[in-house]
Amino acid sequence: MKITKAVLTALLLGTAGVVVCMASGTSGESKKEPGWVKNIPAEKIIEWRRHIHQNPELSYEEMFTSEYVSSILESFGNIEVTWPTPTSVIGILRGDKPGSTVAFRADMDALPVPEETGLPFSSQTEGVSHACGHDVHTAMLLGTAATLSSIKDQVKGTVYFIFQHAEEQSPGGARDIIETGVLNDVDAFFGLHIGPGRLPGLIGILPAGPASTASDGFYLTIQGKGSHGSMPQMGVDPIVTGAEIVTALQTIVSRNVTPGEMAVITVGKFQSGNAPNVIPDRALLAGTVRTVSETTRKLIEGRIRTVIDNIANANGATYSLEYASGYPAMENDPGLCILAKASAIKILGSDMVFDAPRMTASEDFARYKEIAPECYLSLSTGPGVANHHPAFNPDESSFINGVKAEVQIILDYLNSR
Ligand SMILES: [Zn+2]
Ligand SMILES: [Zn+2]
Repeated sequence: MKITKAVLTALLLGTAGVVVCMASGTSGESKKEPGWVKNIPAEKIIEWRRHIHQNPELSYEEMFTSEYVSSILESFGNIEVTWPTPTSVIGILRGDKPGSTVAFRADMDALPVPEETGLPFSSQTEGVSHACGHDVHTAMLLGTAATLSSIKDQVKGTVYFIFQHAEEQSPGGARDIIETGVLNDVDAFFGLHIGPGRLPGLIGILPAGPASTASDGFYLTIQGKGSHGSMPQMGVDPIVTGAEIVTALQTIVSRNVTPGEMAVITVGKFQSGNAPNVIPDRALLAGTVRTVSETTRKLIEGRIRTVIDNIANANGATYSLEYASGYPAMENDPGLCILAKASAIKILGSDMVFDAPRMTASEDFARYKEIAPECYLSLSTGPGVANHHPAFNPDESSFINGVKAEVQIILDYLNSR
């Protein structure tokens, strides 16, 4: 990334921290808003969001939502609309000036959660609701697309607006879209998630480096040989074998992972046997693995396989092991984080921007790092219950700041190249 004046300023501010930013008076100086702010269709964004909210669709089933998004993008008149998969949409805006290609991603799917917000525009689909706020992501990115399409003459390069399906369900929609090759020309990816907890409208910049965890799982069946509880020599005890495995797995994080690097292995399921005097013939174990680096992720998988294989063999048991790779960890690019923070401060003021902690959840936005550097942000939607709660109800007044940040980040990224 070319270092521009804005990026350089951000670098200094970023190093000094938010408190120093506020003390330096950056907040007060940046209130002169650029012309494009008046082009943000604020009322439409609320209308779109409420319509999507009322018509939620589960992962891989986003038929209505993708059609709705596509029709809105087409109404702007200068956005090329493509369908990489049956329920995902990408809007492409080619600016009047040549330049790089940047993508902003919104996810569109809802959850199998019955809504309990009591809102007049509550879900009309029983048992399904936008409890994670993807309706808001979609509406805000439509607002961003509308705003940038209105200033196409000022856009230096190409913008991809990714309306992704199926974030909530592994293997996730990002993988499907990446596999089509439609994003191969993208130079940088940005994404944003809403969440409660702080004042509405605050933009959080997730840390550079690992910004979320990779989430993998394993499912193990140990096949032993049943016997009478008083005659263990006649059987192969899967409970003893499983217990040895559980204990040995505890040494992977403590003995193999670099101290200080976050990693978790939890065996959350261990089922076997029905009676105190019977040695059962099998045991079922399952666990979850959380990591923040690909190296450790691979290391742990390898060690788990080795531990299970050797202990099962040593005990004379056989086994079947399914190791399920979930979403990788997000890897926030340091340069993009600096740029995003500077952009957010420029358009909203430093008192509206904070350094967000790493997400403990996982996100398939992480997969876009296979193509180009990525940066993930958060938008605070005020007090209230957490995402995925039936009563999740973001404050609509916060959305405008999300759109302002998205537009400014896209413009600044393209201008920095
Ligand atoms: Zn979610
Ligand atoms: Zn989500």
